[in-house]
Amino acid sequence: MNTFEKIKILADGAKYDVSCSSSGVERKNNGKLGSSAAAGICHSWSADGRCISLLKILFTNNCVFDCEYCVNRRSSDISRASFEPRELANLTIEFYKRNYIEGLFLSSAVEVSPDHTADRIRSCLQILREEYGFAGYIHAKIIPGVSPEIIHQIGLMADRLSINLELPTQESLSLLAPQKKPKNIFTPMKQITQTLTERRQLKGPGNMFKNRDLYSEGDLRFLDPEGENVTQGDGSLMEMAGKALAVHKQGNRSRERFAPAGQTTQIIIGASPENDRQIIKTSEDLYRSFKMKRVYFSAYIPVSNSPLLPTPFTAPPLAREHRLYQADWLLRFYGFSADEIFDEKTPFLDLDLDPKMGWALRNIEKFPVEINKAALEELLRIPGVGTVSALRIVRQRRQSAVHFDDLKKIGVVVKRARYFITCCGRYYGGNDIVPEFIKNEALAAEKIKERLLPIDDNTQISMFNSITVQREKS
Ligand code: SF4
Repeated sequence: MNTFEKIKILADGAKYDVSCSSSGVERKNNGKLGSSAAAGICHSWSADGRCISLLKILFTNNCVFDCEYCVNRRSSDISRASFEPRELANLTIEFYKRNYIEGLFLSSAVEVSPDHTADRIRSCLQILREEYGFAGYIHAKIIPGVSPEIIHQIGLMADRLSINLELPTQESLSLLAPQKKPKNIFTPMKQITQTLTERRQLKGPGNMFKNRDLYSEGDLRFLDPEGENVTQGDGSLMEMAGKALAVHKQGNRSRERFAPAGQTTQIIIGASPENDRQIIKTSEDLYRSFKMKRVYFSAYIPVSNSPLLPTPFTAPPLAREHRLYQADWLLRFYGFSADEIFDEKTPFLDLDLDPKMGWALRNIEKFPVEINKAALEELLRIPGVGTVSALRIVRQRRQSAVHFDDLKKIGVVVKRARYFITCCGRYYGGNDIVPEFIKNEALAAEKIKERLLPIDDNTQISMFNSITVQREKS
């Protein structure tokens, strides 16, 4: 099989992995401007907001595992291919030289064994980094069950690592991916977290005891469902001192670069029966315990007739994935906890309303909030106020009072926010705060947005037509 045929098979096999940001859209040119391919090239963003195009590909799709939800599973009747380490390294360099890509997103099935596959990935990265001096971005997937030494070596060459959790509970993992043991997923996550934290600590001399997190590990409350607690050690001062000494002894190793862009993971949505609350609580644990950079959600795409999976006609709507990402932002940037986003009666997110609006309507007694007096944390909870606009409000009111007319310039989505605020003591949302009325208004606004920006619209939007103008106004 030649390299081109391998690319076709292995780029297509990688499109289900969303642990990096990707267009994920197949759109033919049809004589219009541009086109988009679901597989092959994906995108990620650097810390300064720059978009980086990556060659997104599997090392192999020859898998000895048989995960029910996966197109590459052993029992799947598909074409199979594997790269040689040098072949993939050469391909990456050739693509890079032609300016097709700026980096590599390398995932893989499990060929022969986790260590066998990971060692070949390690060889490929070694050729790229050491032989060719490739300094571009590399995101490498860690297969559950790989030995710690190989993870460490890959981490020294990759910018970002990811291990996919895939399913939100142990029950679903045991049912749908029985060969993937929770321990084999959480142990590498923990190893990466510890190495990253040690490196960060060693960058600043004298910081050893400042961040007790590193040594107490008290927040590693994600239990290994097989019975072992991921948490180890009692966090005592003696233990901290012992670990500090051990870390110091590593000396030069601290100067080595280990996965500087951190680690991410992916959870498949809708292949198993967990509700949104369970999924967001699992994400919260992952952020807290393993300091994940991102938890990605991937709506299950039917690839199998297994009776254990939803039928193709009950596949989860993509809107669910979208709402989960919004809830994830509330966790990461808006100071919400999973228990606040949901209550016992509402374990699923409302597909029609964004989760922040849903929370505000359930907690209407906390509003209206006076824009000129509220703490930053309260401002962040107002629908229509984002992280940037909340900070701008705090900054501006140090100089002078913020008036209602200032809000739009500050970046607040006034159409949403006006029901939840007062400005200089005046309420702009009508005669009274009535949740049903606000909800209807919000739903109407969402419908307008849907009409203006249909999700499955395959046409190119003109830069100058009225849709663009209305989009800015909405
Ligand atoms: S190990 Fe990965 S590639 Fe193999 S069947 Fe499971 S999910 Fe698919």
